[in-house]
Amino acid sequence: MGSCIFCKIITGEIPSTKVYEDDAVFAFLDIKPVNPGHTLVIPKRHFENIHDTPDDIFAKVAVVAKKIADAILRIGAKGVNIGMNNGTAAGQLVFHAHVHVMPRYGKDSFSLWVGKDYDGNEREEMAKEIRFAL
Ligand code: AMP
Ligand code: ZN
Repeated sequence: MGSCIFCKIITGEIPSTKVYEDDAVFAFLDIKPVNPGHTLVIPKRHFENIHDTPDDIFAKVAVVAKKIADAILRIGAKGVNIGMNNGTAAGQLVFHAHVHVMPRYGKDSFSLWVGKDYDGNEREEMAKEIRFAL
């Protein structure tokens, strides 16, 4: 993908702060971290997001994300959030699949989603739709 900034990071065309690399996966520090150490884990091959990433490659990305989460905890974080934005509606800005591994220290600027209540039968209906779609 000629114009993809994360593809350019993998080739070294754009500089990055690498923390891990193997034959299929690359990981580097996010330039705008939630907290220092916030790492992005990406497949070396270009996929837009989770939906077009083959299962075996996503599995490799997930295993590296866990390794990095373990390392981040070992060096002093109190907890780790792992997240992935898929699609514009979900806040994805860079369209090369990436998993965020975010060190947490309890009170910091990062805030999680706020849950809302289901109406009537909505919860059962939703579960039914998802089961059917699977
Ligand atoms: P999103 O697509 O919303 O999951 O977020 C993209 C993430 O990529 C943001 O957290 C950015 O700070 C990060 N980012 C964008 N460009 C770079 C770059 N050149 N090096 C490191 N991180 C980047
Ligand atoms: Zn790419």
